[in-house]
Amino acid sequence: MTNILTLNNVSKTYKLGQPNQITVLDQVNLNVEKGEVVGLIAPSGAGKSTLLHISGLLDNADHGQVKIDDVDHTNLHDRKRTKTRRQDIGFIYQFHHLLPEFNAIENLILPQLADGVSKPNSLQRAMDLLVSVNLEDRAYHRPAELSGGEQQRVAFCRAMVNSPKLLLADEPTGNLDPDTAMHVFELLMKLVRKTGMSAVIATHNYELSQLMDRQIALKKGKIVEV
Ligand code: ADP
Repeated sequence: MTNILTLNNVSKTYKLGQPNQITVLDQVNLNVEKGEVVGLIAPSGAGKSTLLHISGLLDNADHGQVKIDDVDHTNLHDRKRTKTRRQDIGFIYQFHHLLPEFNAIENLILPQLADGVSKPNSLQRAMDLLVSVNLEDRAYHRPAELSGGEQQRVAFCRAMVNSPKLLLADEPTGNLDPDTAMHVFELLMKLVRKTGMSAVIATHNYELSQLMDRQIALKKGKIVEV
């Protein structure tokens, strides 16, 4: 079985001046297989964002190895890491991070045009994604004209627009009320399952984590299976 993400003995310590240093990740090992969806459950401050940033090549570990799709990216040139990040990894955050001056469909078209996709193809792909999250009626609305749940649904589409192999989500429904969170999360899972992509999804919410294949937690810098 191919691993999309492999972390081997990954450690990260934030040094705030001796003796104030915290080891957030302590020789962490993690394998995420193709098509696998892993829930990362841990309280605030446990290191979820650090783990996701290192996995998504947004930050470097102090020690250890990060492989994406079986390719060791630990010591690769920045240009190659950026290419992998853009092509193979999708990010979703608690806040939508959509471009405020563009409408929903433009937010989905622009990254595709930047990647060389033709205008008609990017438009088709954007609309297909909006349909898949039941937002075709909101395609020409700007983020400020959308509800919180709708904004996040567009953000999910944005993360998936370039068909990444790995989705990394940091509390993707953390800003939503519980009912909306469940509804929006189910749509996200439907999208992920349909594409067969792998995902690591951080959440505080145990109920949501049960929709995933496997749950892990971060305790004192170590990953433990839940
Ligand atoms: P979580 O996402 O689980 O809330 P984080 O990964 O954001 O956790 O942070 C883990 C710990 O590391 C926290 O105690 C946080 O204050 C600390 N931390 C995160 N980033 C930095 C940084 N750049 N410098 C110093 N400490 C940091």
